[in-house]
This record gives sequence, C-alpha cells and structure tokens, in this order.
Amino acid sequence: DLWQGIDFSRSKAEARVDGSTGVKFSDVAGIDEAVEELQELVRYLKNPELFDTIGIKPPHGVLLEGPPGCGKTLVAKAIAGEAGVPFYQMAGSEFVEVLVGVGSARIRDLFKRAKVNKPSVIFIDEIDALATRRQGIFKESTDNLYNASTQERETTLNQLLTELDGFDTGKGVIFLAATNRRDLLDPALLRPGRFDRKIKICPPGAKGRLDILKIHASKVKMSHSVDLSIYSRNLPGWSGAKLAQLVQEAALVAVRKGHESIFQSDMDDAVDRLTVGPRRIGVKLGHQGQCRRATTEMGVAITSHLLRRFESAKVECCDRISIIPRGWTLSQVVFRRLDDESYMFERRPQLLHRLQVFLGARAAEEVIYGRDTSKASVSYLADASWLARKIITIWNLENPMVIHGEPPPWRREANFIGPRLDFEGSLYNDYNLTEPPLNFNLDDEVARRTEALIRDMYDRTLAMLQRHHAALLKAVKVLITQEEISGEEIDFILDNYPQQTPISVVL
Ligand code: ADP
Repeated sequence: DLWQGIDFSRSKAEARVDGSTGVKFSDVAGIDEAVEELQELVRYLKNPELFDTIGIKPPHGVLLEGPPGCGKTLVAKAIAGEAGVPFYQMAGSEFVEVLVGVGSARIRDLFKRAKVNKPSVIFIDEIDALATRRQGIFKESTDNLYNASTQERETTLNQLLTELDGFDTGKGVIFLAATNRRDLLDPALLRPGRFDRKIKICPPGAKGRLDILKIHASKVKMSHSVDLSIYSRNLPGWSGAKLAQLVQEAALVAVRKGHESIFQSDMDDAVDRLTVGPRRIGVKLGHQGQCRRATTEMGVAITSHLLRRFESAKVECCDRISIIPRGWTLSQVVFRRLDDESYMFERRPQLLHRLQVFLGARAAEEVIYGRDTSKASVSYLADASWLARKIITIWNLENPMVIHGEPPPWRREANFIGPRLDFEGSLYNDYNLTEPPLNFNLDDEVARRTEALIRDMYDRTLAMLQRHHAALLKAVKVLITQEEISGEEIDFILDNYPQQTPISVVL
C-alpha cells in the first residue's frame, strides 16, 4: 500500500498548539461589544465545573464573522490567553484534501487532542473552506475528481457536525470558528445547538481605530509628539491589521531615515506608502508639469481653507500637499477628515462646499493661467460632475424631482418609513442608479440641472480665488520649491496675504 505508514490525519494538519497564546483582551481594541460577549467564555474555561454545578448549559461553538483583518483570530487567541488554556488553531483549507477520509480524520484528531487537554480552545479560521453548503453526495457526474473532492468535503463537514453535537461529553472545550462568508456556510452548521453564538466582528470606527493604533504604538518607540488621532480620523475603513501594518511600516521608515523614534513625518510617509505607494524614483515632472499640478492641487486645498475661514463651512481642511510622484499618482492632496458622523448626515451646504473644493482645481488654473486651462484638473472636474449628479438625483437635495432607480427591496417590503441601518451598520441611502431612466426628458432635466449647479458653484469658487490670488500664487510657488506643503503653512500664507480686488489675467 502506497500510503502505508503515512498518517495523513496528523502530518500537515498538525494543529498549531499554543500552550499559552500570551494574548490578552487588552491587546484587542475597537470591537468592545464582541469582547464583552466573549468574556463569558473565559469565565467558563477558567472554571467549567462551576457552570456544571449551577446548572448552566456550557457554551457551545461560537462563530465569529466579519471582514478579514479585524481581529477574529486575535480575539480567539485572547480568550485562550485570558483563561490560560491551550489553543488549537487550524485553517479550514487544511481539512480540504482529495483523499476521502483524510479531512474527517483530522477533525476527529483535533477534537480528541483538545479534549485530552481540556479546558482548551479550538479555533478554525476560514471555516467556509471546509463547510460550504453541501450539494448532496453521489450525484451523477462524469467528473470523478469533482465527485471525489465533493464527497471528501462533505464527509469532513459531517464529521465536524458530529463532533459539535457530541460536545456535551467533552465539557471544557470551546469551539470557535471564523468566516467572512457566512452566506457560503452549510445551513446545518448554523442550526441552533451547533453555534449558539454568532458574533459580528466589525471594522473599527474612529475611536476603535485610535485605540488600535495606541496598542500597536505602545509596542514600538513612537515619539510623544505624534498625534495618532489624525490617522484614526483620516483612515476610514482601515482594519486592525492594516493599522498594525501602518505602525510597522512607520517604524521601518524611521529606521531607514536614522530617526531615534517614529516621527509624525514617518507616519505620513508610511500612510502614503500604504495608500498610493512608495515614492517613485526616476519619475520627475518637468517645470511646466509641476506648475500645473501645484496649481490644481493648491486650488483644491486653498478653496477648502477659504471656505472654512470665510464661510465657516464644515469642510475638510488640507493636511498636506505633495507634488512628489508616488505609486500611481503624480501629486496628491491629503485631507483631514471630519468626524464620522458628519458624513453620515451630510447636508446640502456641506455637499455644495465639497463641490466647490473639487472645482477649485480648474478655478485656480483660470486665476493663474487665464483661458490657458489644461487637462491637469480633469480628475477633479470628474469628481465634481459625479458629486453634482448625486446631489441632484440620488440625494435629491436641490428642488425635489423624480429620480432614477428603485429603493432597496426592504423599503418596499417593510411597513416602515425612514432610514434603516444596513448589514454593516451604515446608513443605506444609495439607490440603484443603473436602472433605466423613467423617460428621456428626465435625463435631459438631470443634465440641465447638473450643469447649472456646477456653473453656479464654479463662478463662486472662481470669484473667491480671484480675491485671494496673491495668496494662491504665493502658495503655489512655495509648493513648487518645497515639493510638499502642510495645511499650517497654507494658513500662514493666507494670514499674510489678505484679500485683494480681483485682477483678471487673460492669456
Ligand atoms: P482576522 O482573523 O479577523 O482576519 P487577525 O486577528 O488575524 O484578523 O488580525 C491580524 C492582526 O491585525 C492581529 O494580529 C493584530 O496585530 C491586528 N489587529 C486586527 N484587529 C485588531 C484589533 N481589533 N485590535 C488590535 N489589533 C488588531
């Protein structure tokens, strides 16, 4: 027998046993609700007999679901770490083999060893790889390999279900599994009694991001002058893993630059590396190109500063501008975001101000070059058109009108009026715009209104920049010489170059 002497159930699938993971709940941030719920498992693992004496049903399996990198593995390790019990970790894909019986043997082996060393924690990451919806085995098919692998997967899953059902006998073992594709899971696995808790591990909010950054910053030598809150606010949607990577990247930058600790500039550099990419050596804009880029970027930045100053508008201010080519961009403006809630309930004035900020790119070109405008501002013009269209159609913030698209199904089904939270907890307000138009006249009407709105906002922006042309010109010059400029420097320039009567430059 070719396979004799090879124990497939153990070989590659040797679970990584961690006597003590060393991870504590204090290493986890941004998912407080989940941690709160999971505390009970720790209490159980520390003293399973107590639950027994009082007559509490021991916790069964717990399914952690959420996008990658948000701390599912981390929190599972923390449970074992807090309780001081062994942690058996395997990935769902490690059970997927072509040979029938191998996966189920590995499952049996995993549970057996965990039970011997109880109390303990079993963790299967990406359980969807092994527990996809069964299709009913032995279906007629000419594809034998397909049949064999499907049969193998289903046998493995059946074994897992059996182990979970027989869990009461193995008191003191907690089974945790993680997935970001709950929809793929076999319904049998989700039936009550198997996973009695399903916990969502959501991407962190701004406060969570700050706490996560603090945890990771405490593991490196971070200068006290670094304001971490800037990054937590400015990096919406970043997972814990990405934030951890940011701190590591900043540490590497600091080392490369010979700094004795991580400075703010190192953090900025790391953000740029992880977003747009590293600095491109060898790509350098010529003087003409630099002037155009500096003008459009400064137009955008200075418009936002002017709106804040003189119209007390709630707009993002510019954090810094760079005309150093990086990754796929030749230049960039980094904005300082407002708090998350401001975006949730954005109002008409706020959106119109943002429209002005986008249009600032072309307006600045017109102030400096007159009618000699260029393609340098087209991306911002595209942003502006997109935003204006949304203001008019989906959000309907101008004169209300009939719009394209259908409300999401739950709005029609439910006897409910008003906004609702979608799955991720954000406000669902983007209707489907790909629907065919109701009639063609409506399309014309949308186009007409979009154009009128853009024209109006453009004229205002142009007039504003003309009044501040001296400051604009100075800021552009500084940016070209320094290649980078901070929001504070822009403010300083605005302080020193007061408003003037407009000049008109015609080329
Ligand atoms: P998942 O299992 O959800 O894909 P991980 O737990 O493997 O994510 O996260 C990878 C790493 O990212 C962790 O080891 C940790 O360094 C960091 N991380 C992720 N989420 C968090 C969090 N909520 N708090 C602190 N660090 C986190």
